[in-house]
Amino acid sequence: MADTVGYPPGAAFIDGAFVPMSEANISVLDWGFLRSDATYDVVHVWRNRFFRIDAHIDRFFDSMAGIRLECGYSREQVCAVLAECVRKSGLEAAFVEMICTRGMSPDFSRDPREAINRFIAFAVPFSWILRPEDREHGIHLAVSSIHRIPQDSVNPRVKNYHWLDLVMGLFEAFDRGAANVVLTDAAGHVVEGPGFNIFAVINGSANTPASGVLHGITRRTAIELLAEAGITTQARSLAVSELINADEVFITSTAGGVISVTRIDERPVADGNMGPVTRQLTDLYWQAHERPQWSLAIDDIPAPAL
Ligand code: PLP
Repeated sequence: MADTVGYPPGAAFIDGAFVPMSEANISVLDWGFLRSDATYDVVHVWRNRFFRIDAHIDRFFDSMAGIRLECGYSREQVCAVLAECVRKSGLEAAFVEMICTRGMSPDFSRDPREAINRFIAFAVPFSWILRPEDREHGIHLAVSSIHRIPQDSVNPRVKNYHWLDLVMGLFEAFDRGAANVVLTDAAGHVVEGPGFNIFAVINGSANTPASGVLHGITRRTAIELLAEAGITTQARSLAVSELINADEVFITSTAGGVISVTRIDERPVADGNMGPVTRQLTDLYWQAHERPQWSLAIDDIPAPAL
């Protein structure tokens, strides 16, 4: 019997079966573990509804195609499996992850073409980048001295577990008293942080890095909601100095939506309070969870036919 200490509540689907989170285990020989040879996506459930599940599943399938993985299930089956994990977990606010690993070959060959890819899904309680009670104050972000892995080495648009740069950046941020970290590329442009994209509001318009980043679903949602509110977003290169001197800075993530950044390194952003664009966008983001075209009730998704 698996040791359940330290596991969050939740339900998983692995090797074709639904199991409690504590029993969702893979072999240490899986290349997903040994080589970070995997892709994944994360969608959230809020008040028993998926938010933009279609966009997440599209990105997951694009990511798999980008690194020559096949999960063995159709889009509809993946959606149904995710919904079943949520139902089995009993959670009404959940963090729902789908993963495809390279797997391994039966004789442990080093040829990736011989590996049998593995699909895993799970639903655990919703996890926040920032504690909800801290949302009003915004976060203190450090700009890391570590560069994000180059995009011509690992394509950041394929959601991946090449996180050592991000995790080392987090340690650096904690050592400097910050709550989180944003990395730059080798040219010194701002890119992204552990699990989020970044925006700077400058002279009434929003700006977000165009390349070297995952195209976050929350980033896309923010751009669309800002446009509806009459605020344009430019996707372009962003210098660290522009970020530090911006009128407002916020980050976007499935793990928390739109989050205000009120301090960067040693300096407050503008007057150090959440700005009006960030506040408006945060409200719009949570209201958008009611939109029928963006949200899907878990109970409306049929049980998986596998
Ligand atoms: N950038 C990275 C590296 C991420 O891992 C994530 C999400 O985990 C994001 C950006 C934000 O993407 P999304 O808004 O789809 O959660």
